Amino acid sequence: MAFYKSYGAAGEVTGSCHYLEIGKVKILIDCGMFQGDEEEMNHEPFGFNPQNIDYLIVTHAHLDHIGRIPLLVKQGFKGKIISTRASYNIAQLMLKNSAAIIETHKEPIYTTKDVDPALALFGTFLEPDKNLKISKEIKISFKNVGHFLGAVSVKIKFFDEGINKSVVFSGDIGQSKRIITAPVKHFRKANYVFVESTYGHSIHQNLSISVKEFKNKILNTLNHGGTVVIPSFALERTQEILFLLKQLSEKGKLEGIPVYLDSPLAINVTKTFKNYPKLFNTKVTKYIKNGDDPFDFDELIQTYTKEASQKIESHKGPKIIIAGSGMCQGGRVSYHLIRYLQDKKNLVLFVGFQVHSTVGNKVLHAKHEAHILGMNIPVHAQISSVSGFSAHADQHDLIDWLNYIKGVNCVYLVHSEEPQLKVLKEKVKTKLQNKVHIVKMHEQIHL
Ligand SMILES: [Zn+2]
Repeated sequence: MAFYKSYGAAGEVTGSCHYLEIGKVKILIDCGMFQGDEEEMNHEPFGFNPQNIDYLIVTHAHLDHIGRIPLLVKQGFKGKIISTRASYNIAQLMLKNSAAIIETHKEPIYTTKDVDPALALFGTFLEPDKNLKISKEIKISFKNVGHFLGAVSVKIKFFDEGINKSVVFSGDIGQSKRIITAPVKHFRKANYVFVESTYGHSIHQNLSISVKEFKNKILNTLNHGGTVVIPSFALERTQEILFLLKQLSEKGKLEGIPVYLDSPLAINVTKTFKNYPKLFNTKVTKYIKNGDDPFDFDELIQTYTKEASQKIESHKGPKIIIAGSGMCQGGRVSYHLIRYLQDKKNLVLFVGFQVHSTVGNKVLHAKHEAHILGMNIPVHAQISSVSGFSAHADQHDLIDWLNYIKGVNCVYLVHSEEPQLKVLKEKVKTKLQNKVHIVKMHEQIHL
């Protein structure tokens, strides 16, 4: 007897946590943090006993997929964590960084001292296209999913009720075209598929148009003597930005213009990325094969310390500042916004989705002023955003990804909200003629 039960990212985007019981073996797929409006749910019990879980499979190291692992371990999980090596290395940085923020909360769900015991349970590494047998009846394999470095979708093959069965969990699927990440690879067969549906309702702007827009907006501001502030996510988006700016640098367009990478987390993540040269697309690997660093160029200055960050202001001419956090919810970008929003020469350029109710979203839609760190800041700078850099598949990509998998009894939709899920459900029905179901929180499904 095998069944699935949902404990997160069912009818919502965050808190990914899927439970699978195959005979006596109990497996979790991801153990993510609830974020944004769903944050309060982190304080609720898991709904299962962490002590009874044998394996935790990690699809990728975004916090909404790994953020509750220290809590899981604190509450008694002693099993093995299965992941790619890259996911483990990124999880080290992300969990330490997030624990330092969480422990400043009024009622922290865990603190920095809970991170090392959680990291100690990693170490069962599985790389894409390889198999791992965890029991006589159960075999696991990964495929690159193009979301970002080390991210995979997972297939679990098992023998149950006298027959061979298989279930695929998509993890987060990347766009078909990415700036630096290796493209998606596909599973070809499965009986059951659980697929993320974040952008199940929409189509992204073409990537090459977005890249052109990004470069033009920056050069335009620099040519008028302004400063460009880019609030950026430390993971993947910053490395994409660096790669695009390197291209401008090679053409001599940034000569004499400092580019500050002002985020210790992003600096550390970039270092980690360089350890995995095989996980990039051909454009990036070309640089690596030629002995060049795809994320470094003459104008780049990394400001690790607070003092170095504060000195950025003393450079009076045009410059570019890349700083976190990506949605301006704290981090060094707050200080740069206060400083540079007030001059019409400058540009604040958003390169990622800004969730409703975040400071980033408020700045993006500010008419005259923005409320940052308790102050009302007049907004005179240009505010702009480039929308096509998403790390998530859009509706076309999701249908395409599903279309590769044959022999499917039912497609289960997770990791999105009701309106998006309904749109994707209809698309899957009409385009693929598959049975399709929207998963509800705590719903149990017999496999
Ligand atoms: Zn993700």
